[in-house]
Amino acid sequence: MTCLFCSIVHKEKEADIVDEDDTVMVFKDIHPKAPVHLLIVPKKHIVSIDTVEDADALLLGKMLLKARDIARDKHVDGYKLLFNVGRKGGQLIDHMHLHLMGGWSESAREDEV
Ligand code: AMP
Ligand code: ZN
Repeated sequence: MTCLFCSIVHKEKEADIVDEDDTVMVFKDIHPKAPVHLLIVPKKHIVSIDTVEDADALLLGKMLLKARDIARDKHVDGYKLLFNVGRKGGQLIDHMHLHLMGGWSESAREDEV
């Protein structure tokens, strides 16, 4: 079975891409749960935080720093970063991704996400 996010990374499936470098792609979530809802996706297929290898620690750091840079670029001054892990953790797409959610005009409470 093909992986949806691998298809987007390889430009076989369309997405609203906002940033891309050699290791990471950022695109808009198709069903946004916040005014700004982006997905930071490694180009390498890794299933989840549960399966990522220690050797990919640098990649994980790059994903976090990419989220920071995109938030700064878009002047999103408060946001949440979220990894869903496994079905019981709400993960539906088995290609690791970091949710960046923000853009609220008022302070966001924990139970709003
Ligand atoms: P998760 O539940 O953590 O696996 O999150 C998967 C996210 O991917 C959800 O927020 C979906 O709305 C989003 N999503 C699903 N299909 C697409 C797509 N084709 N393009 C962009 N985002 C998608
Ligand atoms: Zn994949």
